[in-house]
Amino acid sequence: MDLTELYQDLILDHGQKPRNFGKLKLYNHDAKGHNPLCGDNIHLYLNLDKKGIVTDLSFEGSGCAISVASSSIMTEIVKNKSEKKAQELLDAFFKMIKDNNDLKKIDLTENEKIKFQSLSGVNKFPMRVKCATLCWHTLKAAFDNQKQPINSEVID
Ligand code: ZN
Repeated sequence: MDLTELYQDLILDHGQKPRNFGKLKLYNHDAKGHNPLCGDNIHLYLNLDKKGIVTDLSFEGSGCAISVASSSIMTEIVKNKSEKKAQELLDAFFKMIKDNNDLKKIDLTENEKIKFQSLSGVNKFPMRVKCATLCWHTLKAAFDNQKQPINSEVID
């Protein structure tokens, strides 16, 4: 199986069976995101402890397979990492989508890297880019406790 097939399988799997789906019972940060171009909606919940670790996060919402898969993969990767690390990953994700950067400098396990990179193919489909980045924009808004929902039409 080549990497492209592996990536496609991962997206399909996470799109059909999203992980960390549903509202958290206990959370202290949340934010909403909306991608009107495709109709994707996400409400992200996260719990940040006193040491700055994301001890739990989840999402609710509906959208296309790419947006759901991206949200599912993001929650898996960010869980139990520090806010600082999550912000680094967020920047790396946007760079990967925009410039097709490789992730040599990113400190992730091999398994996490494959999941993270599975979304890199969307840069060939400009319409899908906002589907894949919506959850990461929403994550940033959740850390900032931004009350205004993210609208992907007005951010790049
Ligand atoms: Zn979408």
